[in-house]
Amino acid sequence: MNTLCRLMAPVLSFLSEEVSDYYQGKQKTCSVHLQDFVKPPLVSYYGLPEEEQPRVRKMWQCLKKVRGVVMKALEEQRKKKLVKSSLEASLVLQVNLTEEEKDKEEGQLLLDLLALEEKNNTHNTHNTGTYDYRLLQDYFVVSEVQLSQTQHSNHNHSSSSMEGEWMVYEECAWLRMKVKRAGGGKCERCWRYFEEVTPPSEDLCCRCRSAVVAQRQRQSQD
Ligand SMILES: [Zn+2]
Repeated sequence: MNTLCRLMAPVLSFLSEEVSDYYQGKQKTCSVHLQDFVKPPLVSYYGLPEEEQPRVRKMWQCLKKVRGVVMKALEEQRKKKLVKSSLEASLVLQVNLTEEEKDKEEGQLLLDLLALEEKNNTHNTHNTGTYDYRLLQDYFVVSEVQLSQTQHSNHNHSSSSMEGEWMVYEECAWLRMKVKRAGGGKCERCWRYFEEVTPPSEDLCCRCRSAVVAQRQRQSQD
């Protein structure tokens, strides 16, 4: 309650003051608005030791930066009417580690983050048996992501250049992107486009199908 009151104080100022009057009683020495704000608990990402946490934070900052350029690329394709929404897009990413030191480091941060995700299996693989970059699909809100590494150096650093269909942005010169229209059918539950080896049932992608099956199992147990 102590934590909750201090958290809600900026938005529910009178209510939080009244509630804290009641529960803190005589121990209340000052207004809830003068009390220290809650310190977030230290979270251990991916179960890694504390000394490795700054690098994990850097990985996420890098992903945030990548998201910025992906959004730009998607917007360009939306204007060209290749896709109407980002979920109609399939994204091909190519990380180039032959670039300058700073770029190389950023590229490596992204690859390391994806390796951690895959290892920790927080975004599980389905029947394909390969990791499908679920983190990137969800973070960019696209239907599919393919990622590869290239050793070809890429010297075109203009702010937004098209190399064939490849797009490169100055902020992330180490990343080449291609936006394609996602193939397959549209999942009725999550609206992602999916192509699967097994015949789809009820027009659901495998992620939604397993969620629906699990829900039905729970209901039948009740
Ligand atoms: Zn789905």
